[in-house]
Amino acid sequence: MKKNTIIIVGAGLAGLTAAISFAEKGYIVKVLLKDNIQTNSSYRAQGGIAVSIGKDDSTEKHFKDTLKAGHFLNKRQIVKENVLAGSKAYGWLVEKGVVFDEVPALEAAHSQRRVQRCGDITGKEMLSALKRYQEEKHPDIEFIECLLIDLIKEKSDCVSGVIYFQDDTIYHLYSDAVVLATGGIGGIFYKSSNFQRQTGDGIAAAWRSDAKITDMEFIQFHPTVFCTDNKRFLLSEALRGEGGRIVDDNGNRVMEGFHSDLDLAPRDIVSRSMEIYMKKFHKETLYLDMTHLDKKVMLSRFPNIYKYCKEEGYLLEKDPIPVRPAAHYSIGGIKVDSYGRTSIKNLFACGECTSAGFHGSNRLASNSLLECVVQGIAVGKNKIDSSEKVRFNCDNIRKLSDRSKNSKEIIDDLRHLNQENMGVIRNKKGLKRILEFCERYREEKEISLVNRDNIELRNMLCLSRLIASCALYREESRGVHYREDFPQEDESFFGHIVVQGEDLSFEKLIKKR
Ligand SMILES: Cc1cc2nc3c(=O)[nH]c(=O)nc-3n(C[C@H](O)[C@H](O)[C@H](O)COP(=O)(O)OP(=O)(O)OC[C@H]3O[C@@H](n4cnc5c(N)ncnc54)[C@H](O)[C@@H]3O)c2cc1C
Repeated sequence: MKKNTIIIVGAGLAGLTAAISFAEKGYIVKVLLKDNIQTNSSYRAQGGIAVSIGKDDSTEKHFKDTLKAGHFLNKRQIVKENVLAGSKAYGWLVEKGVVFDEVPALEAAHSQRRVQRCGDITGKEMLSALKRYQEEKHPDIEFIECLLIDLIKEKSDCVSGVIYFQDDTIYHLYSDAVVLATGGIGGIFYKSSNFQRQTGDGIAAAWRSDAKITDMEFIQFHPTVFCTDNKRFLLSEALRGEGGRIVDDNGNRVMEGFHSDLDLAPRDIVSRSMEIYMKKFHKETLYLDMTHLDKKVMLSRFPNIYKYCKEEGYLLEKDPIPVRPAAHYSIGGIKVDSYGRTSIKNLFACGECTSAGFHGSNRLASNSLLECVVQGIAVGKNKIDSSEKVRFNCDNIRKLSDRSKNSKEIIDDLRHLNQENMGVIRNKKGLKRILEFCERYREEKEISLVNRDNIELRNMLCLSRLIASCALYREESRGVHYREDFPQEDESFFGHIVVQGEDLSFEKLIKKR
């Protein structure tokens, strides 16, 4: 018997997992996605999914590694639940047709080889298998290529559908529940491993609906992103797991003097050390050096990375590859519990757009795909009752600022501004500059929403404001959030910052040690 209707926004690993989970329970499922099934972070994931199923491994070790990498800001209960659910999530994926390699990879800050992989295209393999499974078993799931604008919300604090944009038209689609699985925010930065259109739309829409948002100041910068003006791709941490080293143009090892684990130190430390090194020695770029390693091993373990580099004119066995830290992962997002429940009724969320407290102040490599699957399955366990559908008044759609510049120019300016001032190293002056920029475009005369660029720009301004405000509020350095004007950890900030509403009311939830 068909049940109620669920709208899932996002067709990455979290969204597809949730879609299949709800469909298996008989719900009618509609999935909204930008562009196509390949333009998301899940599809790009190379390294793998952290699951502690090895002979010498244990969930206890995974738990400890996660807390250590996260500087113990993680919510312990959530970490425990996620690492324990790892083997079930792995089994769920295998059952859906994902074929993992026999030998897992080692990645930074993991005490064991526990990163389960499908060559160096793990994300692509996972999504392809899930899509095949969905087409075979749940062909009724409807996919709508469009752009989420906002959530439809009843007065009684309950979400009852979405407003989306497609072919120059605005549509209203009603449902009994909405699940946001819109991924990260890398597109608000000039340099990022994410697709540029990854603009945090779900987080922005949830915030406009008054949902609680948390930990936004924590953005992870991946140390080894190949970045030219035209091309950006990630050089997986697993390369350093196999012995790759970060060096300067004279072959000096960058991590010497910064951390005893050298290139396998946690990501926040490697990225920050690289930035400090580049500043100190006036280097525009650093390099990932694999030239001392066996070509056969590289070709067999990283055939696709090898191919990307070759296309750009670099041979892994001969040439150090130019890399630099770039925005990679949003630790913060929509505040959810273990079942993906947000602070708003009938609004759920899973994947990178959420923050449940799993990652603390620095995500352990490959824990994100794990969280996507665990949360996607968990969100599907919610019982969804019929909601009363309300007619939505179009005038309620918040309006965009009019402006003399066109949206593309403003987007470009904003990306550069964020890159300069909200990157690995931050300070009060730079963060305020971002807030002033956002304010300028919010205050100007208002016009209505018109096109894709405007819709995304509106979200980018919102995200930039949220992140800069939280980063300003946290007057200390912790994990991936580094303030050069407050370089030490401050015990009074050992907790989470929650932000809500148009006027950004802050709540500081201090944890017990
Ligand atoms: C290059 C790269 C490599 C990575 N490697 C790893 C790894 O090896 N291991 C690991 O654990 N993590 C890795 N990560 C992180 C991990 O891939 C992501 O955190 C995870 O895939 C996020 O999944 P998601 O389903 O939440 O979001 P995504 O996979 O990004 O999917 C978001 C979906 O939302 C849709 N969407 C967004 N906005 C809208 C809108 N307005 N309207 C309609 N649809 C919308 C998009 O179209 C997309 O379908 C990597 C990330 C990158 C960028």
